[in-house]
Amino acid sequence: QNNKSSDSNLPDPNSGEDGEPDVADPAETSLLIKILGKGLVNTKLSLDIQQKNPNSPLHSIKTFEALHLKASLLKGIYAMGFNTPSKIQETALPTLLADPPQNMIAQSQSGTGKTAAFVLAMLSRVNIGLNHPQVLCLSPTYELAIQTGEVAARMGQFCPDIKLRFAVRGEEVDRSKKIEEHILIGTPGKLLDWGLKFRLFDMKKITVFVLDEADVMIATQGHHDQCIRIHKMLRPECQMLFFSATYDKEVMDFARLIVADPTIIRLMREEESLDNIKQYYVKCKNEDNKYNAIQNIYGCISIGQAIIFCHLDQKQLALFSHCMTRSTRGRMVKTSAYGVSRCGFGLSETRRTAAWLAAKMTSDGHSVAVLSGDLTVEQRLAVLDRFRSGLEKVLITTNVLSRGIDIEQVTIVVNFDLPVDVRGNADCETYLHRIGRTGRFGKSGIAINLITDEKSMKVCTDIEKHFKKKIEILNTDSADDIE
Ligand code: ADP
Repeated sequence: QNNKSSDSNLPDPNSGEDGEPDVADPAETSLLIKILGKGLVNTKLSLDIQQKNPNSPLHSIKTFEALHLKASLLKGIYAMGFNTPSKIQETALPTLLADPPQNMIAQSQSGTGKTAAFVLAMLSRVNIGLNHPQVLCLSPTYELAIQTGEVAARMGQFCPDIKLRFAVRGEEVDRSKKIEEHILIGTPGKLLDWGLKFRLFDMKKITVFVLDEADVMIATQGHHDQCIRIHKMLRPECQMLFFSATYDKEVMDFARLIVADPTIIRLMREEESLDNIKQYYVKCKNEDNKYNAIQNIYGCISIGQAIIFCHLDQKQLALFSHCMTRSTRGRMVKTSAYGVSRCGFGLSETRRTAAWLAAKMTSDGHSVAVLSGDLTVEQRLAVLDRFRSGLEKVLITTNVLSRGIDIEQVTIVVNFDLPVDVRGNADCETYLHRIGRTGRFGKSGIAINLITDEKSMKVCTDIEKHFKKKIEILNTDSADDIE
């Protein structure tokens, strides 16, 4: 079953050529973060606010009562277990709910409360006396739209008069009847069809326009233009709200096209740090020797779990996953490496893959999970769930996991292959994303880099110089070294 939205006829971002670095699909990563998210990300970082309109002074609130919401909405918020507004909500909510309406661009990392904030704005702006769509919310994919709709349904559970409808693949409409629901949440293609092609609702009557996950949106082919086409149909008075987890130039250029005179609220990212991490490197004679190092390390993991990062291309991992994920009662079944090499990869190439490593460890009786980019979201969640519940001690993966997904109990991160860019130089940012996770919860962690030759040694020293943090040599023959 393909999970991609029907109106995103995308080339699969994961289907890189042989040897290409593995790239996670931003929409899927975002969805995984949302589903796996365990509540609000607490941040002590300060907000950066840019106010374009000096006539509407900004203020922030410390309680939901201070927003003077309808009692039924407030009840919905408390029913969700929200006691006080999150950092970004403190400042965003008064602006979102202000009269006259103000435009806003809000940027903060996943899990900081953006969705809850704009859903509250969407619900509170609805005039239930009017039976036509008033709020449009654009999401990059089917799954993300459903997530947002579920939040709206929960928050609005005591407001039975507010009607919501999904505009996503699979939703049928009666083309002879106008749409009467107040809030439409969906993907750009479907909303364009309903609003422009079939004219099932009047774009000019939309009073709130929300563009969610703008960074993911522009990473999805065609969505950028579709959003602009929808935006062009709206009245200039419509409140334009733009949300994104990142704010690089591309996103800001997009924002400028959509939102006039915005209040811009940014919450800086919580920096990952190497402070609590002990970093080591292990010298291995050759690629084969890396496996011995892994075995020694594996033997040392008494508490916690390990993630091993490998280079490999999608095809190899895909092939392997098919052999590997025929699970019995949620456990990986033993498979042998021939599943991969038989499929036409030379042995030397195969040896450097996660697949080879996983197969070897599995055949040696270790319980190992493999996370690959070609798995569906459900399959990935299943792999991560099992790992999080401790069913497997080792997770072998590529870059798919290196951003955004925290696994608390991971104490050891092994770079079976060091992260490099396309030119083969040290990729320090990826290194930080991989390793930084272990320190995030204040717990200490261990990072181990496997080195086979001068080239990988140079990458290691470049990383050391970049972060100005010593990476010490580790002798894996004496387990005492890893403490
Ligand atoms: P974002 O859209 O920035 O990723 P969400 O709005 O999805 O963030 O919020 C992340 C998580 O925190 C969700 O589980 C949500 O239910 C919860 N959450 C949001 N706002 C609050 C709040 N004020 N208090 C407690 N939990 C909250």
